[in-house]
Amino acid sequence: MKIKACEKHLGMCNYTCCSFQDNYIVLYPDELETTRLNTEHLKIIDDNYHGGKKAICLKPCTEKDFKPFDCEIYPYFLHMSETGEVKFLKGKKCPLKKKELIHHKKDCLNKFKKLIKNQKIFEWQRNLELIGYEIE
Ligand code: SF4
Ligand code: SF4
Repeated sequence: MKIKACEKHLGMCNYTCCSFQDNYIVLYPDELETTRLNTEHLKIIDDNYHGGKKAICLKPCTEKDFKPFDCEIYPYFLHMSETGEVKFLKGKKCPLKKKELIHHKKDCLNKFKKLIKNQKIFEWQRNLELIGYEIE
């Protein structure tokens, strides 16, 4: 999912969402195993993170490469509670404002609701520790 508003921030944010220091991206359970796309840009740094994985990127991905769901929904990360309440976290280093993310937020929620029907994913997302996010 491309965010239109990213274009006007690129000079300023310098693709900060794809740079790594102590942060990482998470791969949902079975996500890497089920893709047929190229994954060579990814370096797995934890092969079993509560049943998913942690990864960093060695180079930028292209349109033809595998783009993890974590990246698809960035700057958001979504959590669902036991009661079905969805909480949005937002990456602190992304300069996009709430009003620039209205459509993206809806897309993220729709995709997340489909994924979270999978019990394995529901359990997994409850155990994560994410770096660099705040509650929106
Ligand atoms: S997979 Fe692509 S979008 Fe995700 S962090 Fe790596 S380079 Fe960035
Ligand atoms: S999502 Fe945020 S940090 Fe990433 S390219 Fe867009 S504006 Fe920059």
